[in-house]
Amino acid sequence: MTITALTTYRSLEFPNLLWLEAETADGVVGLGETFYAAEAVEAYIHANLAPIVLGMSAVDIEAVHYRTRPYIGFVAASTELRARSALDIALWDVLGKLTGQPISVLLGGRIRSQIPVYNTCAGNQYVRGTKLGTTQNFGIASSGTDQNYEDLDRFLNDPVGLAGSLLDMGIDSMKIWPFDFAAESTQGQFISPAELDKALAPFKAIKKEYGDRMQISAELHGMWNLSESLIICQALDEIGMRWIEDPVFLTNPTGIQELKRTVRSRIAMGETRGGADDFKIFLDTGALSLLILDIGWCGGLTEARRCAALAGAYLTPVAAHDCNGPVVLSASVHFCQATPNAYVQEIVRAFYYGWYAEIVTELPPIVDGAISAPEGPGLGMELLPDFKVRESTLSRTTRYQMT
Ligand SMILES: [Mg+2]
Repeated sequence: MTITALTTYRSLEFPNLLWLEAETADGVVGLGETFYAAEAVEAYIHANLAPIVLGMSAVDIEAVHYRTRPYIGFVAASTELRARSALDIALWDVLGKLTGQPISVLLGGRIRSQIPVYNTCAGNQYVRGTKLGTTQNFGIASSGTDQNYEDLDRFLNDPVGLAGSLLDMGIDSMKIWPFDFAAESTQGQFISPAELDKALAPFKAIKKEYGDRMQISAELHGMWNLSESLIICQALDEIGMRWIEDPVFLTNPTGIQELKRTVRSRIAMGETRGGADDFKIFLDTGALSLLILDIGWCGGLTEARRCAALAGAYLTPVAAHDCNGPVVLSASVHFCQATPNAYVQEIVRAFYYGWYAEIVTELPPIVDGAISAPEGPGLGMELLPDFKVRESTLSRTTRYQMT
């Protein structure tokens, strides 16, 4: 079971994604993934993680998790934590392949066979570039249609058509972020009545047409100061949101504590933070209605399990984040199948029905608005062999040196 090699893959076509394969002496290979600053994560894996974990047993996942806890770069979804997350997912995949069991079974067994999805209404090119956190990385393509799922263009220009297209697929929950343009123009310091009306229009139009048949969530991306966020959240309260996500940036608990005093909607956040100890600070406020976990950022499946148990003790559900890549999506679905307080699984249908299939052999099937894990042991998917050898794919391997 000795871990004998770590191989990373990153792609010039998908420059934010980083894949990791952990290979054992028995020839079993496990797959992991993370997102953001892929080159930095790659460097950290080879320079800092490899010397620790090469030579360790791949099935001693807790030991690897413990020994790779960084001294710095520990709080929030840092480069160090993202690298550790990718490694952790890969080791659960190894364990699955060694035992012939899906990860959901290894996590304790399934409490549900499938989990409902909601659609994050991004388009195919959303956050494809490395200019992160700006509307310039929205990758908006015009003339969105049902065929190409340019859902960001559609929520701005054809929200009712977009909602109808999702309902036709059996998806009755969606998330949009029309406030970001106004936020960027004032650095989140002021929203004018006209900008507020413009951003509220898609929500109102969808609710008018479909009522409660479509559940809508608002993503604010942590871009607003407290007073403007409060104005926006109260206006959204009147329309009726499933949840409001990252209404302020999650640097400390003050903002959500203040919002919770008057905002009726569920407040969701957490994807930018990492680890159970970190989440406790925010759960302690009592202001969080939904903890959002990215398994490729929070410390992997090992840490996600702790986060969910902790949230459960606060009577709070967890939702799995997916706006990054197909491997984390599969890990997330296994996690949701085995986690009692899992609430919903995020998907981006433009990714799922688009480029995800260029990268992996299988995807978690979606049927009637619910997703289940792929069949087979471990994650139930591999990187496609031809993706690994594309000219635009860069790989790097560090091997165990027997001394
Ligand atoms: Mg989010």
